[in-house]
Amino acid sequence: MTSPLRAVVTGGAGFLGSHLCERLLDLGYEVLCLDNLLTGNEQNIAHLAGIPRFHFLKQDVTERMDVDGPVDAVLHFASPASPIDYLGMPIETLNAGSIGTHKALALAKDKKARFLLASTSEVYGDPLVNPQPETYWGNVNPIGPRSVYDEAKRFAEAITMAYRRYYEVDTRIVRIFNTYGPRMRPNDGRVVSNFIVQALRADSLTIYGEGTQTRSFCYVSDLISGIVALLQAAPGDAMAMPFNMGNPEERTVRDLASRVLALTGSSSAIEARDLPVDDPQLRCPDITRAMNILGWRPEVDIDQGLRLTIAYFRKQAA
Ligand code: UDP
Repeated sequence: MTSPLRAVVTGGAGFLGSHLCERLLDLGYEVLCLDNLLTGNEQNIAHLAGIPRFHFLKQDVTERMDVDGPVDAVLHFASPASPIDYLGMPIETLNAGSIGTHKALALAKDKKARFLLASTSEVYGDPLVNPQPETYWGNVNPIGPRSVYDEAKRFAEAITMAYRRYYEVDTRIVRIFNTYGPRMRPNDGRVVSNFIVQALRADSLTIYGEGTQTRSFCYVSDLISGIVALLQAAPGDAMAMPFNMGNPEERTVRDLASRVLALTGSSSAIEARDLPVDDPQLRCPDITRAMNILGWRPEVDIDQGLRLTIAYFRKQAA
């Protein structure tokens, strides 16, 4: 019997990381989940603890990354990723994207492993092109409050490309657009979790600004399918460029609020709040590259995804 492929997932106890660990285990991988539990939560991986191919190590990726034995893939998902998190933990965020990415790449190089970076649509900043293709270089304020995340991820992409060019590490970059689903934290501060939690508590839904800003929301299982397709794609030049992944259906924040109210049956009011500094006005992925090269596209529609997420939050609140 051949031994299973071994994957290291940094940030594996987080929202996306835990879904990724779960999927890799389903696919037969041995998974080493590293997380310092700054924004991750052991509850997210509690159901995986009994699986012999799953190992959890409480470890800060900016400090050390000792992994014994062979490694086939390193997937770097460790970072605060929600605006309230990265605004509250600016230095940790900069370090996770810079030092953390460097250490994760060094591990991949040492082990001759494939490397996959979780990047973000934030690299496009407040975009002047809509939808955003991977060829768009973005419109980022380098000194604004969001820059701790945006610039850290831009650095992370740059150092990933440097390891690809100079050390010939087999790298892949996924630019993740707004994703939602079970295991988002109720106090994550993101629009989907905020609206659902507020609706279930009959609190007012807090709309920042006019609510005319747009986002496109991808259900987590769709995103994970795309990431796995990217991880498993054959090496080659097509893998050098980043891949946008998200749901290309663009909608306003106000539209999302109406859907959450309808699907929860809540009679919550709407409350206007100030728009955060540098809040992107538009965001929508052009996923042509992922569709053409990986044959991937999201399948879960917004109401279906919201229903599953609402059910999760209802259960949490019970
Ligand atoms: N937003 C909102 N109410 C909230 C939380 C967020 O209107 O309670 C808005 C926010 O200003 C942004 C969008 O929803 O325009 C998405 O915010 P989120 O924090 O989910 O992610 P972002 O895309 O900004 O990283």
